[in-house]
Amino acid sequence: TQWVYGFGGGSADGDASMKNLLGGKGANLAEMARLGLPVPPGFTVTTEACVSYFSNANTYPADLGDQVAAGLKTVEGIVGKTFGDAANPLLVSVRSGARASMPGMMDTVLNLGLNDHTVEGLAKLSGDRRFAFDSYRRFITMYSNVVLGLSHDDFEEVLDDHKDRLGVTVDTDLTAADWEKVVADYKAVVERELGQPFPQDPQDQLWGAVSAVFASWMNDRAKFYRRMHDIPESWGTAVNVQSMVFGNMGETSATGVAFTRNPSTGEARLYGEFLINAQGEDVVAGIRTPQSLTRVGREEMGETAPSMEEAMPGVFAEFVEVVGRLESHYRDMQDIEFTVEQGRLWMLQTRNGKRTAKSALKVAVDLAGEGVISEEEAVSRVEPAALDQLLHPTLDPNAERKVVAAGLPASPGAATGKIVFDADAAEKASQMGDAVILVREETSPEDIHGMHAARGIVTARGGMTSHAAVVARGMGRPCVSGAGEIHIDEAAQTFTARGRTFKAGEVITIDGSKGEVLDGAVAMIEPELTGDFQTLMGWADKVRRLKVRANAETPLDARTARGFGAEGIGLCRTEHMFFDEERIAAVREMILSDDEAGRRVALAKIAPFQKSDFVELFTIMAGLPVTIRLLDPPLHEFIPHTDEDIDALAETSGIDAAKLKKRARELHETNPMLGHRGARLGVAYPEIYEMQVRAILEAALEVKKTAAEAPIPEIMHPLVALGLEMKFLRELTDKTAKAVFAEAGDTVEYLVGTMIELPRAALRAADLAEHAEFFSFGTNDLTQTTFGISRDDSGRFLQAYMDKGIFETDPFVRLDQDGVGDLIRIAAERGKTVRPDIKMGICGEHGGDPSSIAFCETVGLTYVSCSPYRVPIARLAAAQAAL
Ligand code: ADP
Ligand code: MG
Ligand code: MG
Repeated sequence: TQWVYGFGGGSADGDASMKNLLGGKGANLAEMARLGLPVPPGFTVTTEACVSYFSNANTYPADLGDQVAAGLKTVEGIVGKTFGDAANPLLVSVRSGARASMPGMMDTVLNLGLNDHTVEGLAKLSGDRRFAFDSYRRFITMYSNVVLGLSHDDFEEVLDDHKDRLGVTVDTDLTAADWEKVVADYKAVVERELGQPFPQDPQDQLWGAVSAVFASWMNDRAKFYRRMHDIPESWGTAVNVQSMVFGNMGETSATGVAFTRNPSTGEARLYGEFLINAQGEDVVAGIRTPQSLTRVGREEMGETAPSMEEAMPGVFAEFVEVVGRLESHYRDMQDIEFTVEQGRLWMLQTRNGKRTAKSALKVAVDLAGEGVISEEEAVSRVEPAALDQLLHPTLDPNAERKVVAAGLPASPGAATGKIVFDADAAEKASQMGDAVILVREETSPEDIHGMHAARGIVTARGGMTSHAAVVARGMGRPCVSGAGEIHIDEAAQTFTARGRTFKAGEVITIDGSKGEVLDGAVAMIEPELTGDFQTLMGWADKVRRLKVRANAETPLDARTARGFGAEGIGLCRTEHMFFDEERIAAVREMILSDDEAGRRVALAKIAPFQKSDFVELFTIMAGLPVTIRLLDPPLHEFIPHTDEDIDALAETSGIDAAKLKKRARELHETNPMLGHRGARLGVAYPEIYEMQVRAILEAALEVKKTAAEAPIPEIMHPLVALGLEMKFLRELTDKTAKAVFAEAGDTVEYLVGTMIELPRAALRAADLAEHAEFFSFGTNDLTQTTFGISRDDSGRFLQAYMDKGIFETDPFVRLDQDGVGDLIRIAAERGKTVRPDIKMGICGEHGGDPSSIAFCETVGLTYVSCSPYRVPIARLAAAQAAL
């Protein structure tokens, strides 16, 4: 097996396509060498060698030693120096490099090969004894720390003592003789701490470093990082051994890092920092303040020290040329590391640069504009989920954060406001012009008005799909859910977290993107949906097949959704329209009536509200489809539970209080989510759905008269399981429609369909399709009913499943494509056998999740529907799914 791949001197064994074998760093070093760029020669020990090392009880492959020796020989040949040679020593760096760049891996060791003899050779060759001993002391510190496991502090102390003794403050003031003394003391530290001298044999040093790189693949930091980012342990890491070049050889030497474009803004201009007379780690270590690369950059930062452009114009010009080549070669923004040794440029690393969402957008659009990539490639370059960063105000990353409690990042964005503990208080305060944060144990539909009034929501309990989370995302309100550290004392109007007590009215800030509650007001950055955003979304719209709709019921949400490019409403939940103070009394009266006549009296009071809601919604969505789900929640949710509330209702409705109480008891359910809800309401009390259908169609007729285009209502029956159930509901709907049209002397186009949210419905989709003109997969409930896991209670045990690797992700966030997905596939297939042109969409939370959207594309759904603020994400994800 070939374990070692050489690079340098204008050629390489590997190339950029070999990241799996050579790691990202090694593959790109090889590629740069092939391009003829100045890369210090070296070789890469493959990830396969690492894998073999671990599967053979930490022993190297038998022939690795010979291959490394041969690799070294080649490097020696190219640079004309010999590893371990006292007169003319080759020094190397040892650098880790996995497939994906991974913090937590071993730090790089520089200047390896130095010992008491070679340091003299380096001094003589360079004619600079100070430089040689400066390099040696750096090597001892790094090697001792990274390979031998000693603390940096041990060495810092020694250096500080010397500086005190000499009366100097900066490293650059130490002379050659001073460094020699420091080196002697450093070696003594190693001997004292380890009971052994610092390794003098360069071969020992090299193999010590190689095994340290391998071992770092298994350290806790690396394991943790892998788990966070789904990186398999089986990949292993490569090791790069590379001849040293020196940025610390005086004023004509330097080291630096660069981005070909600005990684936070995307501005198409070289961006970065460098340090004169320094080695790699100095730039990041913050020992000295680095200087800007360009003159413009320096002026912007108000720096006085010259930029690289001004200090070394010759090499700078060459550098600009090289990085330009790299960017056009890789066709993306590059993140580059380089060193200048006595006026000569050396390239040490390049990779596609990490960037903010804003930068990703601008870079993609600019590169397409420059003709470097196609519009479609630009679409594929931006991570849909990252758009979230752009759509909400976010916390200023430079602001100080005092975390009060941590919870789940339930709804992105940030908000600051005064603490309130109930929905009415939230509404009142916001009417007074106060910004408030609603803090609750958990929320229920009765809190909607308060959630609307609040700038943000915090709950102590509940998961990513709890009521608070779903509604907050729908409204675009930032929300932190399940912040279990928060203990609310409603009576005292306080909450306690991490030993601190907060009173109502105190100011907190929440970061819904991170799931944190912070003390006080924290500075924010407002979103700006710039030209680049519009441009990229336009390109995405050209390639996608899936339509994108929004889940919305309020005019505000509907308008937001249209603003974000929604092509209709995929889910309008009518019950959300019932909780308004004026209406809830009539709704309760309707539910608590014990006969149809009583219900009809109450329904007649609700009907005008319902109709005017739809008129507003249809006007906003004129010309687009609007799917309206008829009443769905268990009646239980509407019932007043306290005697006080029942008495109040008795008063307004004129119904006897005792009778109301008896009826409330009768309606109580043990398991309401599997109880009297959904289509079961329509079957038991057809007059409810009749009223709703009437309101929908009368509203449509009214809007048709004034709007340029008629709305297209899609009347949706929830929680249907049986063909005959669907037949009954279809006939009820059509009969009502006929009556409405006859009265009006006019008609509108409408569709009747169902949600698929029960396994039986999916399996018997053909029966349903006989009567349903569309299916909408209600994947929240379908996940709940398929797994038999309550979405409101899953938070208590899901984490244990994820920790144990049984669930990879929360199935309420990312669609379970195997199980729930199978049901969707089956339903789609069987539905089409009866009705080939059946419209199909998804309206669960999954409708806004990019990987779930990709799944919807493969199943051939017509559209996805998601909360308004996720519409742009869905448009982009749908485009990527189609590419
Ligand atoms: P990281 O992955 O943490 O960036 P690197 O292996 O890229 O670690 O090394 C960090 C820095 O060390 C580089 O940016 C460079 O400045 C310096 N360095 C690494 N190898 C060499 C070398 N052969 N010659 C000079 N400097 C080097
Ligand atoms: Mg690096
Ligand atoms: Mg449902």
